[in-house]
Amino acid sequence: MTHITCDHCGKQLRSRQDHFVVKIEVFAAHNPAEITEADLEEDHMEAVSQLLREMEDADEADALEAASHHLRYDLCPDCRRRFLRDPLNKDSIHKFDFSEN
Ligand SMILES: [Zn+2]
Repeated sequence: MTHITCDHCGKQLRSRQDHFVVKIEVFAAHNPAEITEADLEEDHMEAVSQLLREMEDADEADALEAASHHLRYDLCPDCRRRFLRDPLNKDSIHKFDFSEN
């Protein structure tokens, strides 16, 4: 049995009910190999599958630059809730702004 821990707080995830997965995709908006606004106006899934096919054809080094980055995190219920409330962790960046206004 594998032991999975929360990637945020390190708590052990004992059961499936405790285990949530966050997947994040990061890609350059200006990259011509990536999805364009025109693609988005068309069928989105088709654009994505075409992109995947193009990436399979691409050089491995090129692909690394152009590719979207897929991040995957295992989270406990508490961290999942925290993530959904503040996916970019803005709270910690702006927390000093909350002083007397
Ligand atoms: Zn956690």
